[in-house]
Amino acid sequence: MTISETEIHHIVQQQRSFFNAAWTLPYSFRINTLKTLKMAITDYEERLNKALREDLGKSEFEAYVTEIGFTLHDLRHTINHLNSWMKPRQIKTSLITQPAKSQIRFAPLGVNLIISPFNYPVQLTLGPLTAAIAAGNTAILKTSELTPACSEVLHDLITDRFDPQHVAHVPGEIRETTALLKQKFDHIFFTGSPQVGSIVMAAAAPHLTPVTLELGGKSPCIVHSDARLSTAVNRIVAGKFINAGQTCVAPDYVLVHQSIQDVFLKKMTQRIEQCYGPDPQSSPDFGRIVNTRHHRRIVKLIDPDKVVVGGTYNQEDRFISPTVMTNVTLEDPVMSEEIFGPVLPVISYETLEDIYTVVSQLPQHPLACYIFSENKAIQDALLHRIQCGGSCINHCLQQVANLNLPFGGVGQSGMGSYHGAAGFECFSHKKSVLNVATWIDSPLIYPPYRKKLKLTRMILK
Ligand code: NAD
Repeated sequence: MTISETEIHHIVQQQRSFFNAAWTLPYSFRINTLKTLKMAITDYEERLNKALREDLGKSEFEAYVTEIGFTLHDLRHTINHLNSWMKPRQIKTSLITQPAKSQIRFAPLGVNLIISPFNYPVQLTLGPLTAAIAAGNTAILKTSELTPACSEVLHDLITDRFDPQHVAHVPGEIRETTALLKQKFDHIFFTGSPQVGSIVMAAAAPHLTPVTLELGGKSPCIVHSDARLSTAVNRIVAGKFINAGQTCVAPDYVLVHQSIQDVFLKKMTQRIEQCYGPDPQSSPDFGRIVNTRHHRRIVKLIDPDKVVVGGTYNQEDRFISPTVMTNVTLEDPVMSEEIFGPVLPVISYETLEDIYTVVSQLPQHPLACYIFSENKAIQDALLHRIQCGGSCINHCLQQVANLNLPFGGVGQSGMGSYHGAAGFECFSHKKSVLNVATWIDSPLIYPPYRKKLKLTRMILK
């Protein structure tokens, strides 16, 4: 299915008129639309499940927890809190502007473009959409061409349940995204790679369109000598190999204290077999690489001489077994880019300084940092020194699941954040309003200024 630049322009214009007519502003409109979306997801659940299985080999459990269920949870949270999020926030008024009242009002940004990646096509398209609707916006969605089955279902869901003047889905590939990016939007919300993120930002610049960029990076996972090792291993295996490693916040590589490296590797070997059996290719719980290009790219990162677990693959089936590599150095190809696949390099360290050296030599700054340690001083030292989007202590990925925490990157891993109230704010403009009393009209700021400076100096101190 293709769409012309003229058609794209027309959708943007329609959305702008719809937004300017103030249809999206009332609380009742937003709530009803959120409920429509919730109902649509439930009605399309079976088709979404099937498409996720087809595109990414996701098990029903994984599809529910990380995509469908997660999005429904987000919607429920948003519906429950929207009334309070929309309320103007009362702010203290400074002496200089008294007598007055101050507040922040949350105003929608307008017409939004939401571009999503392939790895969590449902969550990463409908999550930002939830926030956009809640904040009173219109939105055009562009999903990834790498997951055609999911894109088709999402297209049907959106066109079936929404007025394109409010929410539209534009199918297509880079050509269509490029055509979209030529249009003037009020905000672009992009989730994807840092490379395409910079294309999006450059395209937004001529229109001075603000961008939110949710990108990726090499997220370290630190396992200190005092970590509860069996629990750490359970959590790292789950966090790394879910969706066959194609998770933006997956632990990209492990930094393990040298005193526990051998036992860590032994436990990793045992745990991977416990989770996926002796033949992970036949496990119903292990996903597939999205396409042959990415399959080839990931396979090239595996050095057979350094493999301690896995290392096998089958291109036709887009399968790569859960793989752990050891004795890895920063010169290895696996450390040269975000892996985004089921390959886990392990590097040992002796001191915390060794950790900072490794992290600071890799592209700055990771989206996540995982710290497995029972020692608060160690946790604090690492949190203090490592710049990253977010962190989770003694678990992997869970920071994303708490909708009360803003989710986003820093530096190369992104700008801006969303989820829950942060998502509402991400798609809102914080409009500052000072409401000044008229029962008094202070002559202080009016000319002539003679004899007023001394008093003004005292007030401004
Ligand atoms: P990608 O950057 O290749 O593609 C993302 C979107 O951009 C897709 O819709 C794609 O069609 C579009 N696109 C691709 N090339 C384009 C171009 N030249 N011009 C305009 N649009 C273009 O990313 P991907 O491979 O789909 O996803 C993987 C990346 O996304 C990883 O880096 C991962 O870390 C990141 N990611 C980040 C988050 C997050 O929340 N921070 C979540 C998921 C994935």
